[in-house]
Amino acid sequence: MAKNRKTTGRAAKKASVAKALVKAVRAAAKPPKARRTQHVYFFGNGRADGDRTMKDTLGGKGSGLAEMTNAGLPVPPGFTISTGVCNIYYAQGGKIPSEIEREVEESLRKLEKAAGKRLGSVENPLLVSVRSGAKFSMPGMMDTILNLGLNDQTVEGLKAKTGNGRFAFDSYRRFIQMFGNVVLGIPKDRFEHAFEAVKHERGAKLDTDLDEAGLREVVKRYKDVAQRASKKAFPQDPLEQLRGARDAVFKSWMNQRAKDYRRIYEIPDHIGTAVNVQAMVFGNTGDRSATGVGFTRNPATGAKEFFGEFLVNAQGEDVVAGIRTPQPIAELEKVMPKAYKELRTITTRLERHYKDVQDFEFTIEDDQLYMLQTRNGKRTGYAAVVIATDMAAERIITPREALLQVEPMALSQLLAPVFDPAEWKKLPTATRGLPASPGAASGQVVFTADHAVEWTQQGKRVLLVRKETVPDDIHGMEVAQGVLTATGGMTSHAAVVGRQMGKPSVVGAGELRISERDRTVSIGGQTIKEGEWASFDGLTGEVKVGQVATKPSEILQVLAGRMKPESSDIYQRFDKLLKWADKERTLGIRANADLPDQAELAYAFGARGIGLCRTEHMFFGEGRIEKVQRMILADNEADRRAALQELLPLQRGDFYGVFKAMHGEPVTIRTIDPPLHEFLPKREDLMVEIAKLEATKQAGRVLEEKRQLLQRVEQLHEFNPMLGHRGVRLGITYPEITEMQARAIFEAAAQLAKEGIRVVPEVMIPLVGHVKELRDQKVIVDRVAADVMKEQGVKLKYLVGTMIEVPRGAITADEVAQEAQFFSFGTNDLTQLTFGFSRDDAGKFLAIYQEKKILERDPFASIDAAGVGQLVTMAVERGRKTRPEIKLGVCGEHGGDPSSVHFFHQAGLDYVSMSPYRVPVARLAAAHAAMSVKVGD
Ligand code: PEP
Ligand code: MG
Repeated sequence: MAKNRKTTGRAAKKASVAKALVKAVRAAAKPPKARRTQHVYFFGNGRADGDRTMKDTLGGKGSGLAEMTNAGLPVPPGFTISTGVCNIYYAQGGKIPSEIEREVEESLRKLEKAAGKRLGSVENPLLVSVRSGAKFSMPGMMDTILNLGLNDQTVEGLKAKTGNGRFAFDSYRRFIQMFGNVVLGIPKDRFEHAFEAVKHERGAKLDTDLDEAGLREVVKRYKDVAQRASKKAFPQDPLEQLRGARDAVFKSWMNQRAKDYRRIYEIPDHIGTAVNVQAMVFGNTGDRSATGVGFTRNPATGAKEFFGEFLVNAQGEDVVAGIRTPQPIAELEKVMPKAYKELRTITTRLERHYKDVQDFEFTIEDDQLYMLQTRNGKRTGYAAVVIATDMAAERIITPREALLQVEPMALSQLLAPVFDPAEWKKLPTATRGLPASPGAASGQVVFTADHAVEWTQQGKRVLLVRKETVPDDIHGMEVAQGVLTATGGMTSHAAVVGRQMGKPSVVGAGELRISERDRTVSIGGQTIKEGEWASFDGLTGEVKVGQVATKPSEILQVLAGRMKPESSDIYQRFDKLLKWADKERTLGIRANADLPDQAELAYAFGARGIGLCRTEHMFFGEGRIEKVQRMILADNEADRRAALQELLPLQRGDFYGVFKAMHGEPVTIRTIDPPLHEFLPKREDLMVEIAKLEATKQAGRVLEEKRQLLQRVEQLHEFNPMLGHRGVRLGITYPEITEMQARAIFEAAAQLAKEGIRVVPEVMIPLVGHVKELRDQKVIVDRVAADVMKEQGVKLKYLVGTMIEVPRGAITADEVAQEAQFFSFGTNDLTQLTFGFSRDDAGKFLAIYQEKKILERDPFASIDAAGVGQLVTMAVERGRKTRPEIKLGVCGEHGGDPSSVHFFHQAGLDYVSMSPYRVPVARLAAAHAAMSVKVGD
């Protein structure tokens, strides 16, 4: 030291630099010493090891407790065993390594010090709660144990210390029951029976009517129940109790309901749960104590009101268990005004601190308030919009933060008809399917599209129940309240069309057994006949037997002009939020719409362009299918041209309407795509009809026509129609179809140009895998465009492009871009062809793939970034290399899926296109993507 003091400042600096360098070199040469990972995080006495940013490690509850402790709020001390330990527990086959056991015990000592009590002490016993808490709240899915630390001795100590024997034994019986059920796996009802028996013997009506002696008797019987079931005495060692409870919480991460919950809400399995061990405070010491839960705002309606329930002289689980009816939280102001006032102050502070609605739990022990949890509250889509716009108006959050508060998918709830929640709850769930299109649907079951129409004409409300839907069911789907299918996935016909129509749909409800012949369906063991009522919720996939009343969405009423915007509060909020979103997003929003009315709706929802107009859907309109069939049945070009000539004015009229509805915004029209046999009757049906005609000996024109039709249907039959004569292949083999469609497009555009509306049609050729396919079709389109311009004397701007939906098209995108002025990614087919999964059949096995974690999500619903996504990014890069100004969009169903929108934003697309009802969702998702927020974070 003395030597050092004598050296000059500069020299000292030099020496220390040299030392540091030597140290650094040595450190680099040696492998770094593993820093001890912290597994257990303490909170108490105003200080916590963690904070709100550590949800990944501490889970939601743990990080909330740490944050509240740091903020000086009244939080009983405790510690959080991290989510990482959950993974270790599973990796080690259900064991906790000894160093973590030691860390837990060290934290327990700290907790005992902070609480001034000791676990297992008779004089001054510490009791703890052991509760789960993952990053995302999973209400009621995992296990909890309260009052841990009680045994035959400590219960007497607790009595002596509090002078309250009733309370001590009430706590002990609760502990035995919870521990017995959760850790020892004894069914709850065994305890309940024993409890009821004592109540009955002692003439007690309520649980609180039992006195100490009664509760001592309950404890005795509970221990007998435990002993009989587990074949050993109820564990008396508090440390053994603690280890058992901790492991049981970890185990509950993998129980069936928790797994199901994670699957539904797309929460990954690997994140694990934390375990929170916390000193108990007691809401059951008497009439000056209570326990309750609440929200800072109403989570169902979003109204700014203090919302919640509480029970006097009770513990946490009583509020949710429904044994006693809790009181509304407003009543607390009357019975415990001081604690109530403090609770309001604290929760208001918490809401401002977290800038979000808080869902909290509290306990009042002898008039003293304790906070046991705070987290961002779950809410309905409706409430989310109300809360976000209110909080922005109150300046608690900025409009950008308001946008982030609303999950994009929540918006679709606002558009769908809704069930009256109280009525919905009254019926049990009979089965479930994939929630394909949100909304409440209730109607009389019918099994065919024709019946759906007939019954609707008679003024009935119907649910169309089908094994699967096909394009000719469209009329039935249109009139039905909802569509329910037994097979099919998220991009099956019923799902795609259901969403496009905004029709509530549940698809792939595999338990349905439909007999069209007997006109019955069995749902969850009940057989329903045609005409009986069923209901389903397209947002959750739940199906019930019976009728439930629905209400229409106000937003749709405003957009349809049936309600004034100023009369609808929710419409105004919805509109405001989406206008904020438009300021943030950089992706363009278009819609997939085939008919003028769909285009108008899409425009009203905020789409500025059509990304996909599937022209073949127009062929199913009234009086058209016969003309289409004539075109297909023609076995020579002249007859085909004659039939096409009849279709021309109809298509022109449709295109005119679609262009007009889009007010000059870009419209992409796709030439015919599906295999032709989709427009013809089914082979089997025709055979039956012919057999019947033959049997009645009604030879004649009708029979002859049917025979011809059958012959053509057989000619057109394909083993793999999805990989067959469809898309660009049709245009190449029947160029006159492309010619007619191009003419209809340009004539409609010319007509509008004359009326002063300039449209730039984008003609899109589907299923291109080779640049020469596109070149072949482009020649036709350009020729027809030139002819029409000449005939009509107008100049038209237009683009010719292609869908990228065949992997070869993506791989050779640089070549394809030589001809294509735009690419639109058809991610439905691109997914189908990349995985080799049939989009119409994958529903059968994808659920198992997800269950087995082979795939996290349905790749037809959410883009497979690692596989299909790579083809997209590759095609973007290669396409732009050839043609830097190339327009890029997506029109597969993924265009309306928030996490896929995020991907497309990052891939650098210009726009996304989706069914009209998904437009608001996509506007918000695109804003989130631009603000770089991952969905689910
Ligand atoms: C696609 O394949 O993604 C697409 C939009 O086309 P379709 O669904 O009509 O095959
Ligand atoms: Mg396609």
